[in-house]
Amino acid sequence: MLFMFCIKCGKDAFVGNFCEQCYLEKKDLFILKKVKMRYCDNCGKYYTQKEKVSPEEMEHFISGQIEEKGNIKNIEIKVSKRVDKIHAVIVAKGSIKPSKISITDRKEFSIYPKKIKCNSCAKILGNYHEAVIQIRGLKKENIIREIGKLIKNDELAGILKLKEGYDVKIVDKPVAARAVQILREKFTVKRSFKLVGEKKGRKIYRNFYAVR
Ligand SMILES: [Zn+2]
Ligand SMILES: [Zn+2]
Repeated sequence: MLFMFCIKCGKDAFVGNFCEQCYLEKKDLFILKKVKMRYCDNCGKYYTQKEKVSPEEMEHFISGQIEEKGNIKNIEIKVSKRVDKIHAVIVAKGSIKPSKISITDRKEFSIYPKKIKCNSCAKILGNYHEAVIQIRGLKKENIIREIGKLIKNDELAGILKLKEGYDVKIVDKPVAARAVQILREKFTVKRSFKLVGEKKGRKIYRNFYAVR
């Protein structure tokens, strides 16, 4: 049986039992996915289950959490960030089929990131390092400058200044190997390794690269 009139207000029906206005009233232009986040108080990055989000990328990240339910013509996202709270106001304009009327949908949402130390920070703070580049010899100032260009801060576990040069501690082996490969073009590199411990029955070696 077909209703000819809106069951809410009695106007002519537009879709099913509703007039156009009443039909649009209960519709969303968009909805937001549920987001859980953590915040590293050491490096200032936000983490979700799957990705790492820099504070500057937050708008972009939030736009990825929007699920379109209508034809969105334009969308505005305003984000305010505090370490313990991210607040976003999202205003979308568009229409919902079969209606052609332009409507506005405004939603606010808040994320409360849990404070953590992320994996790479935890490693660094714990002085954890899988490789050491030992800088020795007459070109040591040159070499340390080169390394400064090759290795990012968050990959460094620390630099030790010694009488004979520098020991540059690097968190991950592949990062050290990549840097050393480039250093080889200009300097002499000697590689060695040392057993530093055992983890779950696996021997753990630390790589040493003497560069001069
Ligand atoms: Zn109505
Ligand atoms: Zn971190």
